[in-house]
Amino acid sequence: MNEQLQNDLRAELEDLESKNLLWNPKTLEGPSGAKTKIAGKEVIMLCSNNYLGLSNSRILKRAAIGAIKKYGAGSGSVRPIAGSMDIHIKLEETIARFKRTEDAIYYNSGFTANSGAIPALVREGDIIISDELNHGSIIDGTRLTKGERMIYKHRDMNELETRLKEAKAKNPKRILVITDGVFSMDGDIAPLDRIVKLAEEYGACTYVDDAHGDGVLGEHGRGIVNHFGLEDRVDMDMGTFSKGFGTMGGYIAGTRTLKKYLLNKSRTWLLTGSHPPGTVAASIASLELLEKSDKLVKRLWRNTKSFRKRLKEAGFDTGVSETPIIPIITYDESKAAKMSQRLFEEDVYALPIVFPMVAKGRARIRTMMSADHSKEDLEFAIDKITKIGKELELVK
Ligand SMILES: *Cc1c(COP(=O)(O)O)cnc(C)c1O
Repeated sequence: MNEQLQNDLRAELEDLESKNLLWNPKTLEGPSGAKTKIAGKEVIMLCSNNYLGLSNSRILKRAAIGAIKKYGAGSGSVRPIAGSMDIHIKLEETIARFKRTEDAIYYNSGFTANSGAIPALVREGDIIISDELNHGSIIDGTRLTKGERMIYKHRDMNELETRLKEAKAKNPKRILVITDGVFSMDGDIAPLDRIVKLAEEYGACTYVDDAHGDGVLGEHGRGIVNHFGLEDRVDMDMGTFSKGFGTMGGYIAGTRTLKKYLLNKSRTWLLTGSHPPGTVAASIASLELLEKSDKLVKRLWRNTKSFRKRLKEAGFDTGVSETPIIPIITYDESKAAKMSQRLFEEDVYALPIVFPMVAKGRARIRTMMSADHSKEDLEFAIDKITKIGKELELVK
């Protein structure tokens, strides 16, 4: 490797390390579940987005194996040329049925849905209005547009209205308001009902990223649009299969015209190989399972409510969490890192989140619930968290 490049990269890595921002991902030695194996030992998993435990579901695995036998291990092409199999179409129909929209377009991931659809929808002279805490894929999608970007303070509807007024005064062709549904650092929910109402008042379009609401919010985990009863009022209902739905892939649900437009205009749909049949079939099975039963969603919420209650009773600050994303605020950055390390020593896997991912002095351990966790799993975790919380003088 070029010596200068090698040295530059090393220097940047050292800088990250000195700020405690270096990722050293741990390796899972088995499936992702309520418990998993890491470094040769079993640990309680508290940092996966596998909200419903579907990633290792027998039903999904059987669907994937069946599709691999029938269609093969790969699809052979990009979607627009020779990579649209009937199961890709069936998946899009299933998404539309689940989300109660006219149609849906399936992307390889949530990231490519955002980074492809946003630049396709926002042209020169258009304005995009974005919550300051929106996900990185929305930020990157926005950077690829030729439109203008305006930011409003997190969940602040007065600021959103001010931005809408400013945008309107510029007389743009199109205004797009875009927000995460559930915010992944605090586990709080966007006030989508008020956002949609304001957008309607000012003639703006709406785009919601439901990555952490899929399988979590709404009846049978249909997501944030269903949670607020806003069907037909959100223009672009975007989400992912990589979290609650247990597989991989992104989508945008909306009208037939929207789908037709996006599949002609988004480069991240046009220029990348389509998903392998196994993943697609497992994704269909995931939605069909949720349509049939809301048992897992109910279990997820039972776990969420009892875990958060127990943490609060033990004296921890769980911030503004309203969802299965439950932060344990340590305030101090080094305490977050220390707590994560100690938890792992005690067989609990949860990661620290520090500045700049969250504000300075708001460092935390972020825990995430799953329907897969048993009562015993959560009791075990609470015991260890409380014990270490005392060691670090976070609680008495
Ligand atoms: C995880 C996530 C994505 C990316 O989804 P993938 O399908 O994993 O690429 C997009 N938006 C939000 C808010 C996310 O949390």
